[in-house]
Amino acid sequence: METRTTDVLVIGSGIAGLAAALGAVREGASVTIATKSTQPEGTSTWWAQGGVAVTRNDPAGFEEDIQAASSHTADHTAIEVLVKNANDAVRDVLVETLSVDFDSNGEMFDFAREAAHSTDRILHVDASTGKHIHVPFLNYLAEREEVTILDDTAALELIRHEGRVHGAMLERSGDVAPIYAGSTVLATGGIGDLYSRTTNPPGSTGDGIAMAALAGADISDMEYVQFHPTVYAGEDPFLLSEAVRGEGAVLRNGKGERFMSAVHKDAELAPRDVVARAIQHERESTGEVLLDVSSMPFEDEFPDLAERCAKHAVDWTSGISVAPAEHFLCGGITVDGHGRTTLDRLYAVGECARTGVHGANRLASTSLLEGLVWGLRAGSDAAEKEAQPIDPPELLTRDPELPGAFVHDKFVRLRRVMDDYVGLWRDPDELTRAQAGLRRLKGEVDAYTRTRTSRSLYELRNASVTALLVARGAAENEDSVGTHTLISDDKSNAGVISR
Ligand SMILES: Cc1cc2nc3c(=O)[nH]c(=O)nc-3n(C[C@H](O)[C@H](O)[C@H](O)COP(=O)(O)OP(=O)(O)OC[C@H]3O[C@@H](n4cnc5c(N)ncnc54)[C@H](O)[C@@H]3O)c2cc1C
Repeated sequence: METRTTDVLVIGSGIAGLAAALGAVREGASVTIATKSTQPEGTSTWWAQGGVAVTRNDPAGFEEDIQAASSHTADHTAIEVLVKNANDAVRDVLVETLSVDFDSNGEMFDFAREAAHSTDRILHVDASTGKHIHVPFLNYLAEREEVTILDDTAALELIRHEGRVHGAMLERSGDVAPIYAGSTVLATGGIGDLYSRTTNPPGSTGDGIAMAALAGADISDMEYVQFHPTVYAGEDPFLLSEAVRGEGAVLRNGKGERFMSAVHKDAELAPRDVVARAIQHERESTGEVLLDVSSMPFEDEFPDLAERCAKHAVDWTSGISVAPAEHFLCGGITVDGHGRTTLDRLYAVGECARTGVHGANRLASTSLLEGLVWGLRAGSDAAEKEAQPIDPPELLTRDPELPGAFVHDKFVRLRRVMDDYVGLWRDPDELTRAQAGLRRLKGEVDAYTRTRTSRSLYELRNASVTALLVARGAAENEDSVGTHTLISDDKSNAGVISR
Protein backbone atom coordinates (compact mmCIF):
# COMPACT_ATOMS: atom_id res chain seq x y z
CA MET A 1 0.00 0.00 0.00
CA GLU A 2 1.31 3.46 -0.84
CA THR A 3 1.49 6.46 1.49
CA ARG A 4 -1.32 8.90 0.67
CA THR A 5 -2.41 12.44 1.47
CA THR A 6 -5.96 13.80 1.45
CA ASP A 7 -7.78 16.87 2.74
CA VAL A 8 -10.37 14.82 4.61
CA LEU A 9 -10.08 11.17 5.61
CA VAL A 10 -13.40 9.49 6.36
CA ILE A 11 -13.21 6.09 8.07
CA GLY A 12 -16.39 4.11 7.38
CA SER A 13 -18.91 4.07 4.54
CA GLY A 14 -22.31 4.04 6.29
CA ILE A 15 -24.71 6.99 6.09
CA ALA A 16 -22.64 9.08 8.52
CA GLY A 17 -19.36 8.62 6.63
CA LEU A 18 -20.99 9.24 3.26
CA ALA A 19 -22.73 12.37 4.55
CA ALA A 20 -19.40 13.64 5.94
CA ALA A 21 -17.77 13.00 2.56
CA LEU A 22 -20.56 14.91 0.82
CA GLY A 23 -20.31 17.80 3.28
CA ALA A 24 -16.54 18.05 2.68
CA VAL A 25 -16.75 17.71 -1.12
CA ARG A 26 -19.32 20.48 -1.29
CA GLU A 27 -16.73 22.76 0.40
CA GLY A 28 -14.19 21.87 -2.29
CA ALA A 29 -12.10 19.36 -0.32
CA SER A 30 -10.55 16.14 -1.59
CA VAL A 31 -11.90 13.17 0.36
CA THR A 32 -10.67 9.62 0.89
CA ILE A 33 -13.14 7.13 2.31
CA ALA A 34 -11.44 4.08 3.86
CA THR A 35 -13.85 1.29 4.67
CA LYS A 36 -13.59 -2.28 5.87
CA SER A 37 -16.73 -3.06 3.85
CA THR A 38 -16.35 -4.97 0.61
CA GLN A 39 -20.02 -4.54 -0.24
CA PRO A 40 -22.87 -2.26 0.94
CA GLU A 41 -24.18 -5.01 3.27
CA GLY A 42 -21.11 -4.43 5.45
CA THR A 43 -22.80 -1.40 7.03
CA SER A 44 -25.74 -1.20 9.47
CA THR A 45 -27.04 1.54 7.21
CA TRP A 46 -27.79 -0.97 4.44
CA TRP A 47 -29.80 -3.11 6.87
CA ALA A 48 -31.95 -0.28 8.27
CA GLN A 49 -35.61 -1.17 7.97
CA GLY A 50 -38.15 1.24 9.45
CA GLY A 51 -36.95 4.53 7.99
CA VAL A 52 -35.90 8.11 8.67
CA ALA A 53 -37.84 10.34 11.04
CA VAL A 54 -38.36 13.97 10.04
CA THR A 55 -39.66 16.95 11.97
CA ARG A 56 -42.50 17.84 9.55
CA ASN A 57 -44.08 20.93 11.11
CA ASP A 58 -43.89 19.82 14.73
CA PRO A 59 -40.41 20.44 16.24
CA ALA A 60 -41.75 20.56 19.79
CA GLY A 61 -43.54 17.22 19.44
CA PHE A 62 -40.47 15.55 17.91
CA GLU A 63 -38.24 16.87 20.69
CA GLU A 64 -40.69 15.71 23.36
CA ASP A 65 -40.82 12.18 21.90
CA ILE A 66 -37.00 11.94 21.81
CA GLN A 67 -36.81 13.16 25.41
CA ALA A 68 -39.56 10.81 26.63
CA ALA A 69 -37.93 7.76 24.97
CA SER A 70 -34.63 8.70 26.62
CA SER A 71 -36.32 9.03 30.05
CA HIS A 72 -35.48 12.75 29.82
CA THR A 73 -31.72 12.20 29.74
CA ALA A 74 -31.07 13.43 26.18
CA ASP A 75 -29.21 16.70 25.57
CA HIS A 76 -31.56 19.53 24.68
CA THR A 77 -28.99 21.41 22.55
CA ALA A 78 -28.18 18.29 20.53
CA ILE A 79 -31.85 17.53 19.94
CA GLU A 80 -32.30 21.09 18.70
CA VAL A 81 -29.55 20.55 16.12
CA LEU A 82 -31.27 17.36 14.96
CA VAL A 83 -34.81 18.69 14.88
CA LYS A 84 -33.92 22.02 13.24
CA ASN A 85 -31.88 20.39 10.47
CA ALA A 86 -33.93 17.24 9.84
CA ASN A 87 -36.36 18.44 7.14
CA ASP A 88 -33.72 20.35 5.15
CA ALA A 89 -31.08 17.59 5.29
CA VAL A 90 -33.54 14.90 4.20
CA ARG A 91 -35.01 17.05 1.41
CA ASP A 92 -31.62 18.27 0.17
CA VAL A 93 -29.64 15.00 0.26
CA LEU A 94 -32.08 12.10 0.20
CA VAL A 95 -34.89 13.51 -1.92
CA GLU A 96 -33.24 16.05 -4.25
CA THR A 97 -29.61 14.83 -4.56
CA LEU A 98 -30.12 11.05 -4.38
CA SER A 99 -33.76 10.84 -5.54
CA VAL A 100 -34.66 8.22 -2.92
CA ASP A 101 -38.10 7.00 -3.86
CA PHE A 102 -39.80 7.12 -0.45
CA ASP A 103 -43.22 5.46 -0.28
CA SER A 104 -46.03 7.90 -0.99
CA ASN A 105 -49.80 8.14 -1.19
CA GLY A 106 -50.25 10.05 -4.42
CA GLU A 107 -48.71 13.51 -3.93
CA MET A 108 -47.95 13.04 -0.22
CA PHE A 109 -45.22 10.98 1.44
CA ASP A 110 -46.58 7.99 3.31
CA PHE A 111 -45.34 8.99 6.79
CA ALA A 112 -45.26 5.96 9.09
CA ARG A 113 -45.39 5.77 12.85
CA GLU A 114 -43.22 3.66 15.14
CA ALA A 115 -43.00 2.88 18.82
CA ALA A 116 -42.82 5.91 21.13
CA HIS A 117 -43.53 8.42 18.31
CA SER A 118 -46.66 10.46 19.06
CA THR A 119 -47.39 11.07 15.38
CA ASP A 120 -46.70 9.76 11.84
CA ARG A 121 -43.31 11.22 10.81
CA ILE A 122 -41.17 8.41 9.37
CA LEU A 123 -40.18 8.31 5.71
CA HIS A 124 -39.56 4.80 4.45
CA VAL A 125 -39.23 2.54 1.42
CA ASP A 126 -41.19 -0.60 2.32
CA ALA A 127 -39.41 -1.94 5.41
CA SER A 128 -35.97 -1.90 3.81
CA THR A 129 -35.23 1.82 3.77
CA GLY A 130 -31.48 1.52 4.42
CA LYS A 131 -30.44 -0.06 1.15
CA HIS A 132 -32.57 2.39 -0.86
CA ILE A 133 -30.56 5.23 0.68
CA HIS A 134 -27.15 3.59 0.92
CA VAL A 135 -26.68 2.29 -2.60
CA PRO A 136 -27.50 5.56 -4.45
CA PHE A 137 -25.39 7.49 -1.89
CA LEU A 138 -22.34 5.27 -2.53
CA ASN A 139 -22.83 5.47 -6.29
CA TYR A 140 -23.21 9.25 -6.19
CA LEU A 141 -19.91 9.70 -4.33
CA ALA A 142 -18.07 7.04 -6.35
CA GLU A 143 -18.70 9.17 -9.47
CA ARG A 144 -17.19 12.32 -7.94
CA GLU A 145 -13.60 13.09 -9.01
CA GLU A 146 -12.69 14.52 -5.61
CA VAL A 147 -13.62 11.28 -3.83
CA THR A 148 -11.45 8.15 -3.54
CA ILE A 149 -13.07 5.08 -2.00
CA LEU A 150 -10.69 2.45 -0.59
CA ASP A 151 -12.76 -0.63 0.17
CA ASP A 152 -11.63 -3.70 2.12
CA THR A 153 -9.32 -1.26 3.92
CA ALA A 154 -9.16 -1.04 7.71
CA ALA A 155 -7.91 1.85 9.81
CA LEU A 156 -5.71 0.38 12.56
CA GLU A 157 -4.45 3.42 14.46
CA LEU A 158 -4.84 7.18 14.37
CA ILE A 159 -1.70 9.18 13.65
CA ARG A 160 -1.41 11.64 16.49
CA HIS A 161 1.33 14.21 16.92
CA GLU A 162 1.55 17.03 19.48
CA GLY A 163 -2.13 16.81 20.41
CA ARG A 164 -3.40 16.82 16.83
CA VAL A 165 -4.70 13.97 14.66
CA HIS A 166 -3.06 13.80 11.23
CA GLY A 167 -4.72 10.76 9.63
CA ALA A 168 -4.47 7.03 10.22
CA MET A 169 -2.53 3.88 9.51
CA LEU A 170 -4.45 1.83 6.96
CA GLU A 171 -4.27 -1.90 6.26
CA ARG A 172 -5.24 -3.69 3.07
CA SER A 173 -4.46 -7.33 2.26
CA GLY A 174 -1.84 -7.39 5.02
CA ASP A 175 0.01 -4.22 3.85
CA VAL A 176 0.08 -1.22 6.18
CA ALA A 177 0.71 2.42 5.19
CA PRO A 178 -0.08 5.90 6.54
CA ILE A 179 -2.63 8.26 5.07
CA TYR A 180 -2.13 11.91 6.07
CA ALA A 181 -5.21 14.08 6.33
CA GLY A 182 -6.04 17.67 7.18
CA SER A 183 -8.94 16.24 9.19
CA THR A 184 -10.02 12.74 10.09
CA VAL A 185 -13.66 11.72 10.49
CA LEU A 186 -14.46 8.50 12.36
CA ALA A 187 -17.72 6.92 11.13
CA THR A 188 -17.14 3.32 12.11
CA GLY A 189 -20.64 2.39 13.33
CA GLY A 190 -21.70 0.16 16.20
CA ILE A 191 -20.49 -2.53 18.60
CA GLY A 192 -22.72 -5.54 17.83
CA ASP A 193 -19.78 -7.96 17.70
CA LEU A 194 -19.29 -7.52 21.45
CA TYR A 195 -22.43 -9.62 22.05
CA SER A 196 -23.44 -13.08 20.83
CA ARG A 197 -26.79 -11.86 19.47
CA THR A 198 -26.89 -8.67 17.43
CA THR A 199 -28.68 -7.05 14.52
CA ASN A 200 -25.42 -5.44 13.29
CA PRO A 201 -23.36 -6.84 10.40
CA PRO A 202 -20.07 -8.67 11.17
CA GLY A 203 -17.14 -6.34 11.78
CA SER A 204 -19.04 -4.07 14.21
CA THR A 205 -16.18 -4.15 16.68
CA GLY A 206 -16.16 -0.56 17.94
CA ASP A 207 -12.94 0.27 16.05
CA GLY A 208 -13.43 4.04 15.92
CA ILE A 209 -14.27 4.28 19.61
CA ALA A 210 -11.22 2.25 20.60
CA MET A 211 -8.88 4.19 18.29
CA ALA A 212 -10.20 7.51 19.60
CA ALA A 213 -9.97 6.38 23.23
CA LEU A 214 -6.39 5.12 22.75
CA ALA A 215 -5.47 8.47 21.15
CA GLY A 216 -6.86 10.28 24.22
CA ALA A 217 -10.30 11.52 23.06
CA ASP A 218 -13.17 11.73 25.55
CA ILE A 219 -15.73 8.92 25.39
CA SER A 220 -19.09 9.03 27.19
CA ASP A 221 -22.41 7.29 27.87
CA MET A 222 -20.95 3.89 26.94
CA GLU A 223 -23.26 2.06 29.35
CA TYR A 224 -26.27 2.94 27.19
CA VAL A 225 -26.37 -0.09 24.89
CA GLN A 226 -29.75 -0.52 23.24
CA PHE A 227 -31.16 -4.02 22.80
CA HIS A 228 -33.86 -4.25 20.14
CA PRO A 229 -36.87 -6.09 21.58
CA THR A 230 -38.08 -8.00 18.53
CA VAL A 231 -35.29 -9.97 16.90
CA TYR A 232 -35.89 -13.51 15.60
CA ALA A 233 -34.99 -15.81 18.50
CA GLY A 234 -33.48 -18.67 16.46
CA GLU A 235 -30.15 -19.11 14.66
CA ASP A 236 -28.97 -16.26 12.40
CA PRO A 237 -31.13 -13.59 14.12
CA PHE A 238 -32.84 -10.90 12.03
CA LEU A 239 -34.71 -7.78 13.05
CA LEU A 240 -38.49 -7.43 12.97
CA SER A 241 -38.87 -3.67 12.75
CA GLU A 242 -40.99 -1.69 15.21
CA ALA A 243 -43.07 -0.73 12.19
CA VAL A 244 -44.60 -4.24 12.40
CA ARG A 245 -45.95 -3.44 15.86
CA GLY A 246 -46.82 0.03 14.60
CA GLU A 247 -49.11 -1.66 12.05
CA GLY A 248 -50.86 -3.75 14.72
CA ALA A 249 -48.76 -6.83 15.55
CA VAL A 250 -48.95 -7.83 19.23
CA LEU A 251 -46.72 -9.76 21.63
CA ARG A 252 -47.84 -12.96 23.36
CA ASN A 253 -46.02 -14.97 26.02
CA GLY A 254 -45.63 -18.74 26.17
CA LYS A 255 -49.17 -19.04 27.56
CA GLY A 256 -50.59 -17.17 24.58
CA GLU A 257 -51.36 -14.07 26.72
CA ARG A 258 -50.70 -10.45 25.77
CA PHE A 259 -48.60 -8.86 28.52
CA MET A 260 -47.46 -5.39 27.39
CA SER A 261 -50.59 -3.50 28.47
CA ALA A 262 -49.82 -4.44 32.08
CA VAL A 263 -46.31 -3.04 31.72
CA HIS A 264 -46.76 0.33 29.96
CA LYS A 265 -49.62 2.58 28.89
CA ASP A 266 -48.47 2.36 25.26
CA ALA A 267 -48.39 -1.46 25.41
CA GLU A 268 -46.47 -2.88 22.40
CA LEU A 269 -45.54 0.66 21.33
CA ALA A 270 -43.72 1.52 24.56
CA PRO A 271 -40.05 2.64 24.33
CA ARG A 272 -37.59 -0.06 23.25
CA ASP A 273 -35.88 -0.52 26.60
CA VAL A 274 -39.22 -1.20 28.30
CA VAL A 275 -40.40 -3.71 25.67
CA ALA A 276 -37.02 -5.48 25.58
CA ARG A 277 -36.96 -6.06 29.35
CA ALA A 278 -40.58 -7.21 29.38
CA ILE A 279 -39.94 -9.71 26.56
CA GLN A 280 -36.86 -11.09 28.29
CA HIS A 281 -38.78 -11.43 31.54
CA GLU A 282 -41.68 -13.29 29.83
CA ARG A 283 -39.24 -15.58 28.01
CA GLU A 284 -37.64 -16.48 31.31
CA SER A 285 -40.96 -17.10 33.06
CA THR A 286 -43.13 -18.61 30.29
CA GLY A 287 -40.61 -20.09 27.85
CA GLU A 288 -41.03 -17.87 24.79
CA VAL A 289 -42.53 -14.73 23.29
CA LEU A 290 -44.24 -14.65 19.90
CA LEU A 291 -44.81 -11.67 17.65
CA ASP A 292 -48.39 -12.28 16.55
CA VAL A 293 -48.96 -10.77 13.08
CA SER A 294 -52.27 -12.56 12.44
CA SER A 295 -54.42 -9.41 12.65
CA MET A 296 -52.53 -7.50 9.94
CA PRO A 297 -51.60 -7.98 6.26
CA PHE A 298 -48.00 -8.98 7.13
CA GLU A 299 -46.99 -10.34 3.74
CA ASP A 300 -48.39 -7.32 1.86
CA GLU A 301 -47.00 -4.69 4.22
CA PHE A 302 -43.64 -6.34 4.92
CA PRO A 303 -42.74 -8.54 1.95
CA ASP A 304 -38.99 -8.48 2.78
CA LEU A 305 -39.66 -9.73 6.30
CA ALA A 306 -42.05 -12.43 5.08
CA GLU A 307 -39.23 -13.53 2.77
CA ARG A 308 -36.71 -13.60 5.64
CA CYS A 309 -39.17 -15.76 7.63
CA ALA A 310 -39.49 -18.15 4.70
CA LYS A 311 -35.67 -18.42 4.41
CA HIS A 312 -35.49 -19.33 8.10
CA ALA A 313 -38.38 -21.83 7.71
CA VAL A 314 -40.48 -19.73 10.10
CA ASP A 315 -44.25 -20.06 9.65
CA TRP A 316 -45.21 -16.49 10.51
CA THR A 317 -48.95 -17.29 10.48
CA SER A 318 -48.50 -18.97 13.86
CA GLY A 319 -46.33 -16.19 15.32
CA ILE A 320 -42.61 -15.39 15.15
CA SER A 321 -40.45 -16.28 18.15
CA VAL A 322 -38.58 -13.13 19.25
CA ALA A 323 -35.93 -12.18 21.83
CA PRO A 324 -33.93 -8.98 22.44
CA ALA A 325 -30.54 -8.58 20.74
CA GLU A 326 -27.85 -5.87 20.81
CA HIS A 327 -28.84 -3.20 18.31
CA PHE A 328 -27.41 0.27 18.90
CA LEU A 329 -24.92 2.16 21.06
CA CYS A 330 -26.33 5.47 22.35
CA GLY A 331 -22.95 6.64 23.72
CA GLY A 332 -19.55 6.80 22.05
CA ILE A 333 -16.92 9.40 21.17
CA THR A 334 -17.93 12.70 22.75
CA VAL A 335 -18.67 15.32 20.08
CA ASP A 336 -20.20 18.78 19.77
CA GLY A 337 -22.88 19.97 17.34
CA HIS A 338 -20.40 19.76 14.43
CA GLY A 339 -19.02 16.32 15.26
CA ARG A 340 -15.79 17.77 16.73
CA THR A 341 -14.16 15.45 19.28
CA THR A 342 -11.95 16.65 22.13
CA LEU A 343 -8.86 16.06 19.91
CA ASP A 344 -7.79 18.66 17.36
CA ARG A 345 -8.81 17.75 13.76
CA LEU A 346 -10.59 14.57 14.80
CA TYR A 347 -14.32 14.28 14.15
CA ALA A 348 -16.76 11.46 14.89
CA VAL A 349 -20.21 10.95 13.38
CA GLY A 350 -22.98 8.36 13.33
CA GLU A 351 -23.27 5.48 15.73
CA CYS A 352 -19.67 5.67 16.99
CA ALA A 353 -20.28 9.26 18.19
CA ARG A 354 -22.04 10.46 21.31
CA THR A 355 -23.90 13.60 20.29
CA GLY A 356 -26.29 13.52 23.26
CA VAL A 357 -29.38 13.12 21.06
CA HIS A 358 -30.25 9.68 22.43
CA GLY A 359 -29.42 10.02 26.11
CA ALA A 360 -30.05 6.69 27.83
CA ASN A 361 -32.30 5.24 25.11
CA ARG A 362 -32.77 6.01 21.40
CA LEU A 363 -36.12 6.76 19.78
CA ALA A 364 -36.79 4.58 16.71
CA SER A 365 -35.70 5.90 13.27
CA THR A 366 -33.53 8.73 14.59
CA SER A 367 -30.17 7.13 13.88
CA LEU A 368 -30.04 7.46 10.09
CA LEU A 369 -31.15 11.06 10.59
CA GLU A 370 -28.46 11.73 13.20
CA GLY A 371 -25.79 10.26 10.89
CA LEU A 372 -27.01 12.40 8.01
CA VAL A 373 -27.26 15.67 9.93
CA TRP A 374 -23.97 15.35 11.86
CA GLY A 375 -22.17 13.87 8.86
CA LEU A 376 -22.95 16.92 6.71
CA ARG A 377 -22.03 19.36 9.48
CA ALA A 378 -18.78 17.59 10.38
CA GLY A 379 -17.71 17.15 6.75
CA SER A 380 -18.20 20.80 5.98
CA ASP A 381 -16.33 21.89 9.15
CA ALA A 382 -13.50 19.42 8.48
CA ALA A 383 -12.96 20.61 4.92
CA GLU A 384 -10.98 23.69 5.88
CA LYS A 385 -7.86 22.02 7.31
CA GLU A 386 -4.69 21.22 5.31
CA ALA A 387 -2.82 17.88 5.63
CA GLN A 388 0.67 17.98 7.20
CA PRO A 389 2.85 14.85 6.79
CA ILE A 390 4.62 13.76 9.98
CA ASP A 391 6.38 10.59 11.07
CA PRO A 392 3.87 7.73 11.28
CA PRO A 393 3.79 5.64 14.45
CA GLU A 394 5.89 2.50 14.38
CA LEU A 395 3.92 -0.58 13.36
CA LEU A 396 5.48 -3.79 12.20
CA THR A 397 4.34 -4.62 8.70
CA ARG A 398 5.13 -8.27 9.37
CA ASP A 399 2.24 -10.48 10.36
CA PRO A 400 3.56 -13.62 11.99
CA GLU A 401 0.95 -16.37 12.22
CA LEU A 402 -1.40 -16.00 15.15
CA PRO A 403 -1.82 -19.16 17.18
CA GLY A 404 -4.65 -21.24 15.63
CA ALA A 405 -8.01 -20.03 16.90
CA PHE A 406 -6.57 -17.17 19.01
CA VAL A 407 -8.93 -14.42 17.82
CA HIS A 408 -12.00 -16.67 17.68
CA ASP A 409 -11.48 -18.04 21.19
CA LYS A 410 -10.88 -14.62 22.72
CA PHE A 411 -14.03 -13.25 21.04
CA VAL A 412 -16.04 -16.15 22.52
CA ARG A 413 -14.69 -15.24 25.97
CA LEU A 414 -15.37 -11.53 25.49
CA ARG A 415 -18.96 -12.13 24.35
CA ARG A 416 -19.66 -14.47 27.24
CA VAL A 417 -18.64 -11.73 29.69
CA MET A 418 -20.74 -9.10 27.89
CA ASP A 419 -23.81 -11.37 27.56
CA ASP A 420 -23.69 -12.55 31.15
CA TYR A 421 -22.73 -9.36 32.99
CA VAL A 422 -23.26 -6.31 30.77
CA GLY A 423 -26.57 -7.14 29.05
CA LEU A 424 -30.15 -6.03 29.64
CA TRP A 425 -29.82 -6.08 33.43
CA ARG A 426 -26.69 -5.11 35.35
CA ASP A 427 -25.60 -6.06 38.85
CA PRO A 428 -22.81 -3.98 40.49
CA ASP A 429 -20.87 -7.08 41.66
CA GLU A 430 -21.10 -8.68 38.24
CA LEU A 431 -19.89 -5.46 36.62
CA THR A 432 -16.79 -5.56 38.83
CA ARG A 433 -16.22 -9.17 37.75
CA ALA A 434 -16.77 -8.20 34.09
CA GLN A 435 -14.14 -5.46 34.27
CA ALA A 436 -11.59 -7.79 35.84
CA GLY A 437 -12.21 -10.43 33.14
CA LEU A 438 -12.05 -7.90 30.32
CA ARG A 439 -8.86 -6.32 31.67
CA ARG A 440 -7.20 -9.73 31.72
CA LEU A 441 -8.34 -10.41 28.19
CA LYS A 442 -7.12 -7.03 26.94
CA GLY A 443 -3.72 -7.67 28.51
CA GLU A 444 -3.43 -10.97 26.62
CA VAL A 445 -4.43 -9.28 23.35
CA ASP A 446 -2.06 -6.33 23.84
CA ALA A 447 0.86 -8.72 24.09
CA TYR A 448 0.15 -9.73 20.49
CA THR A 449 -0.63 -6.29 19.02
CA ARG A 450 2.91 -5.21 20.02
CA THR A 451 4.36 -7.46 17.34
CA ARG A 452 1.60 -8.09 14.80
CA THR A 453 -0.63 -6.04 12.55
CA SER A 454 -3.32 -8.46 11.41
CA ARG A 455 -6.75 -6.89 10.94
CA SER A 456 -8.59 -9.49 12.98
CA LEU A 457 -6.20 -8.96 15.88
CA TYR A 458 -6.82 -5.21 15.79
CA GLU A 459 -10.58 -5.83 15.70
CA LEU A 460 -10.19 -7.98 18.80
CA ARG A 461 -8.06 -5.28 20.43
CA ASN A 462 -10.69 -2.68 19.59
CA ALA A 463 -13.51 -4.88 20.84
CA SER A 464 -11.72 -5.48 24.14
CA VAL A 465 -11.04 -1.75 24.65
CA THR A 466 -14.66 -0.90 23.79
CA ALA A 467 -16.09 -3.67 25.99
CA LEU A 468 -14.07 -2.36 28.91
CA LEU A 469 -15.42 1.14 28.30
CA VAL A 470 -19.01 -0.22 28.34
CA ALA A 471 -18.43 -2.22 31.52
CA ARG A 472 -16.64 0.68 33.22
CA GLY A 473 -19.38 3.15 32.22
CA ALA A 474 -22.00 0.76 33.61
CA ALA A 475 -20.10 0.23 36.87
CA GLU A 476 -19.67 3.97 37.41
CA ASN A 477 -23.32 4.87 36.79
CA GLU A 478 -25.47 4.12 39.83
CA ASP A 479 -28.58 5.61 38.25
CA SER A 480 -30.79 2.89 36.78
CA VAL A 481 -32.23 4.58 33.71
CA GLY A 482 -33.18 3.77 30.11
CA THR A 483 -31.00 1.02 28.65
CA HIS A 484 -28.84 0.94 31.80
CA THR A 485 -30.99 -1.10 34.16
CA LEU A 486 -29.56 -2.08 37.49
CA ILE A 487 -30.96 -5.33 38.73
CA SER A 488 -33.78 -5.10 41.27
CA ASP A 489 -34.63 -7.69 43.90
CA ASP A 490 -37.89 -8.33 42.08
CA LYS A 491 -37.15 -8.88 38.37
CA SER A 492 -40.87 -9.05 37.58
CA ASN A 493 -40.85 -5.26 37.89
CA ALA A 494 -38.14 -5.07 35.28
CA GLY A 495 -40.50 -4.06 32.53
CA VAL A 496 -41.65 -0.97 34.37
CA ILE A 497 -38.30 0.32 35.56
CA SER A 498 -38.25 3.22 33.14
CA ARG A 499 -38.64 6.68 34.44
C1 LIG B 1 -31.05 -4.28 11.18
C2 LIG B 1 -31.00 -2.82 11.52
C3 LIG B 1 -32.12 -2.01 11.30
C4 LIG B 1 -32.08 -0.65 11.59
N1 LIG B 1 -33.15 0.15 11.27
C5 LIG B 1 -33.04 1.49 11.44
C6 LIG B 1 -34.07 2.37 10.97
O1 LIG B 1 -35.05 1.94 10.39
N2 LIG B 1 -33.91 3.71 11.15
C7 LIG B 1 -32.81 4.24 11.79
O2 LIG B 1 -32.73 5.46 11.92
N3 LIG B 1 -31.81 3.43 12.22
C8 LIG B 1 -31.90 2.09 12.05
N4 LIG B 1 -30.88 1.28 12.47
C9 LIG B 1 -29.67 1.89 13.04
C10 LIG B 1 -28.87 2.53 11.91
O3 LIG B 1 -28.97 1.75 10.76
C11 LIG B 1 -27.40 2.67 12.29
O4 LIG B 1 -27.25 3.19 13.58
C12 LIG B 1 -26.73 3.62 11.30
O5 LIG B 1 -26.93 3.16 9.98
C13 LIG B 1 -25.25 3.72 11.60
O6 LIG B 1 -24.65 4.40 10.54
P1 LIG B 1 -23.09 4.66 10.59
O7 LIG B 1 -22.75 5.36 9.33
O8 LIG B 1 -22.72 5.29 11.87
O9 LIG B 1 -22.45 3.18 10.64
P2 LIG B 1 -22.58 1.95 9.64
O10 LIG B 1 -23.66 2.13 8.66
O11 LIG B 1 -22.61 0.72 10.47
O12 LIG B 1 -21.20 1.97 8.86
C14 LIG B 1 -19.97 1.75 9.55
C15 LIG B 1 -18.86 1.67 8.53
O13 LIG B 1 -17.60 1.71 9.17
C16 LIG B 1 -16.74 0.72 8.59
N5 LIG B 1 -15.66 0.45 9.54
C17 LIG B 1 -15.76 0.02 10.82
N6 LIG B 1 -14.53 -0.06 11.37
C18 LIG B 1 -13.64 0.32 10.41
C19 LIG B 1 -12.23 0.45 10.37
N7 LIG B 1 -11.43 0.16 11.41
N8 LIG B 1 -11.65 0.87 9.22
C20 LIG B 1 -12.41 1.15 8.12
N9 LIG B 1 -13.76 1.04 8.10
C21 LIG B 1 -14.35 0.65 9.25
C22 LIG B 1 -17.68 -0.43 8.28
O14 LIG B 1 -17.12 -1.33 7.37
C23 LIG B 1 -18.86 0.37 7.70
O15 LIG B 1 -18.58 0.71 6.38
C24 LIG B 1 -30.91 -0.09 12.17
C25 LIG B 1 -29.79 -0.89 12.40
C26 LIG B 1 -29.82 -2.25 12.07
C27 LIG B 1 -28.60 -3.08 12.30
